[in-house]
Amino acid sequence: MSNQKYIILDRDGVINVDLFDYVTKPIDFKFEEGSLDALSLLSENNFNIVVATNQACISLGLASKDEIDKVNSHMKQKVKEHGSKILHIEVCPHKPEDDCECRKPRTGLLHQAEKTLGINLAGSYFVGDKFSDVQCALAHKCKPLLVKTGYGEITLKNHDTSQAQVFENLLSATKFICQ
Ligand SMILES: [Mg+2]
Ligand SMILES: [Zn+2]
Repeated sequence: MSNQKYIILDRDGVINVDLFDYVTKPIDFKFEEGSLDALSLLSENNFNIVVATNQACISLGLASKDEIDKVNSHMKQKVKEHGSKILHIEVCPHKPEDDCECRKPRTGLLHQAEKTLGINLAGSYFVGDKFSDVQCALAHKCKPLLVKTGYGEITLKNHDTSQAQVFENLLSATKFICQ
């Protein structure tokens, strides 16, 4: 398993359109343009896809864990129908005040994925749209890629993103990775 390649993806604003609100129902889950093709390209290039997503809506009582699981199952099914596969999804259900170890920019989600899968994610690419994704990637010795979709443009405006490579969207980031 040591020669396996892994890539970590944020969900909202990377794989699907960030509604600037929570996606609590499958019907509200819209793939970003080209993201299904991006996931297929990753699979064709033997990347194992791990999703790490903050979903404070659970702790805030706006959605149940079960509802978020349903949204993620819907995503997985659509990705499967498109010829790709999401290996694993880690969800932080907490809000910032919960001060948990898993909410990005903290790295608990990556540690949990490593423990569950028996892998090491250091050195892997990590694609996100928020500064917290970039910080999480760097803290875990992953390679941060920032996409301009979702909060990406806002992130570029408000933070020093010089340590991340910037791409229009997941598909262009993926093409770079797989070139
Ligand atoms: Mg995001
Ligand atoms: Zn958490």
